[in-house]
Amino acid sequence: SITPVNVTVTGAAGQIGYALLFRIASGQLLGPNTPVRLRLLEIPQGVRAAEGTAMELDDCAFPLLAGIDIFDDPTAGFAGANVALLVGARPRSAGMERGDLLQANGGIFGPQGAAINAGAADDIRVLVVGNPANTNALIAASHAPDVPAERFTAMTRLDHNRALSQLATKAGVPVTAIEKLTIWGNHSATQYPDIFHAEISGRPATEVVADQAWLENDFIPTVAKRGAAIIEARGASSAASAANAAISHVFDWVNGTPAAGWTSAAVVSDGSYGVPAGLISSFPVTSTGGAWQIVPGLEIDSFSRGRIDASVAELIEERDAVTALGLI
Ligand code: NDP
Repeated sequence: SITPVNVTVTGAAGQIGYALLFRIASGQLLGPNTPVRLRLLEIPQGVRAAEGTAMELDDCAFPLLAGIDIFDDPTAGFAGANVALLVGARPRSAGMERGDLLQANGGIFGPQGAAINAGAADDIRVLVVGNPANTNALIAASHAPDVPAERFTAMTRLDHNRALSQLATKAGVPVTAIEKLTIWGNHSATQYPDIFHAEISGRPATEVVADQAWLENDFIPTVAKRGAAIIEARGASSAASAANAAISHVFDWVNGTPAAGWTSAAVVSDGSYGVPAGLISSFPVTSTGGAWQIVPGLEIDSFSRGRIDASVAELIEERDAVTALGLI
């Protein structure tokens, strides 16, 4: 029998956690042959609700679920973790300054990075979902000097999927007809969904949808503001779609991406595409051998250059702010 993979989920009692855990336990995170042991990390006020979710997980009798443990201490929660999904974060509340938000999240993601450094398994892979995700990932990575920086990633897969869906609708094709779409930069309103390398049934997307006004005034803002539109409609923030994207990100990271095309993930920059090395920024990526690779050599036109630079400038500002606060 295969040794179970330890999967730590923070914010396990939250909305996204609730949408995520059942899919992990059913085998969708790592595949149908890999048993998982769940390690749920919550703040003390969240532990009781996490216990309730664990009862429901028990009641599913998932064949692949080898066990569930609940923690309110990061060191214990990340001990032996092979995969860590960092979902719990401090949301921005009314009147909160950006510095306060970064400070509060530094207080969460710094200790979590240190705990990962201290006790996670050697093959640890970290996906940060909690916002501001890119900078939270940077904070965690900076507290984990013994873990390769490449193991800390942030999620832009939901943005990628939103862009796929919007483009497919516009072109009147199934999402499976689209390849080589990219989300660049920060998981924020400055993100740049790029269709200039995308193909629709093998043809350049910009030929199929030759509509620059739609691109600038409709597509890009719709993708970037989709989260707010969902809150407006649903009365609660997106959760199942965020969980779905997290599942796909980790599945592809571990199992590899298909030979054709690529996906999007925020990974540590090696300086590619003018993104300063060390920033955790979204790129076109493939995965082979259990590691992400940034797709090399794409031509970037001046429109895309401006959009990428604007989002990267925001990441630089966030990095400088957390540096000034002593959080990294
Ligand atoms: P959610 O589960 O809805 O969201 C969790 C985080 O995911 C937020 O930071 C949210 O950012 C972010 N997020 C990223 N992408 C998306 C997306 N597309 N849609 C929605 N959210 C997205 O939050 P809840 O408040 O329901 O639950 C949070 C849980 O985390 C609580 O149970 C709390 O106790 C716990 N927590 C645990 C911590 C820990 O383990 N140490 C620390 C802090 C909290 P945004 O706010 O920008 O929407």
